[in-house]
Amino acid sequence: MRVPFLDLPAQYQSIKEDIDAAMAEVVDACAFIGGQALREFESAFSAFQSVEQCVGVGNGTDALEIVFEALDIPSGSEIIVPANTFIATAEAVTRTGHKVVFCDCDEANMTIDVGDAENCISEKTAAIVAVHLYGHPCDMDPLLSLARQHDLAIIEDCAQAHGAEYKGRRVGGIGQAGTFSFFPGKNLGAFGDAGAITTNSGQFAERCRRIANHGRLEKFDHEIVGRNSRLDNLQAAVLAVKLRHLEKWTEHRIRIADRYLSGLTDCSGVQLPGRADWARQVYHLFVIRCDARNELQAFLADHGVSSGIHYPMAIPKMAAYASLEQATESLRANREDSRLLSLPIGEHVDAEACDYVCMKIREFFHS
Ligand SMILES: *Cc1c(COP(=O)(O)O)cnc(C)c1O
Repeated sequence: MRVPFLDLPAQYQSIKEDIDAAMAEVVDACAFIGGQALREFESAFSAFQSVEQCVGVGNGTDALEIVFEALDIPSGSEIIVPANTFIATAEAVTRTGHKVVFCDCDEANMTIDVGDAENCISEKTAAIVAVHLYGHPCDMDPLLSLARQHDLAIIEDCAQAHGAEYKGRRVGGIGQAGTFSFFPGKNLGAFGDAGAITTNSGQFAERCRRIANHGRLEKFDHEIVGRNSRLDNLQAAVLAVKLRHLEKWTEHRIRIADRYLSGLTDCSGVQLPGRADWARQVYHLFVIRCDARNELQAFLADHGVSSGIHYPMAIPKMAAYASLEQATESLRANREDSRLLSLPIGEHVDAEACDYVCMKIREFFHS
């Protein structure tokens, strides 16, 4: 049996007619930048996330950069970022002229450790980035209370968390702003790079929209110095079609995750991902932890199962962030990176494939 990690061709085949028609409409009109397809997707996506405003941008990294710029905080401010995330979260802080301070991740689900984030707060701290990693929402209430106490902004990096919920509330509108990626492999993926910013503040959304479009809202009304980072209509049209299937695909991911959780219960050698009782975890990734990670990954590959590692090296240990000298700090994130393994999950993984993966893992651990 072969279980690919991701199967984008299968997803495309299942909705090909609608996607092709939506793309043809944009191409026929040659309406590539700005306009109807973009507005329709922005309003459909803000409704999906239960947030008032959505601004389409070029990708998830730009979304973060634009939000940090729109915050209007003093240059050189400190922004707290969890050490276990994709590098883009940190990069966007650095590229907007601020200083990254890495905090730890928590034991249960590898999202931000709020206690450690609090320890990282200094006079210069301006914001904390809550990365809803793997699709599991961060514990937002204590973060919001820290934000009130210390006058900080909470930015939600929702690149892996389309449709995720914290205590019944969709992510992206809980903090000051949310940022989304529609990279092809994400739960909602475009046919190229794409991203969005969400917020409940009309004013903040307008500022982000200006920054992303040369400082203007209308032609030649350049009020501030901006840049070019736009979600184009071809991507918006593809995303609008896929969005109509996202709830169904997400429910499937959750069913497969539950099947992994029960299929691997008491499998000695495997640490299963936790899920808080207040979380709707949308399982962008299903990440187990084990000591013989590399050997297990090779064994699974030998038996047709592709897996991934998110992420193979905690960011403080990367050359790009060596200057922060946090590589040797006693962070869970610095230790656990060698134990993480992402199992295949998505609408291409059915019950039979999931059971096969569980069987092979048990075989590996003789348990
Ligand atoms: C994918 C991802 C990003 C970056 O998104 P791009 O669209 O690839 O720029 C940022 N943060 C996290 C957590 C991600 O997974």
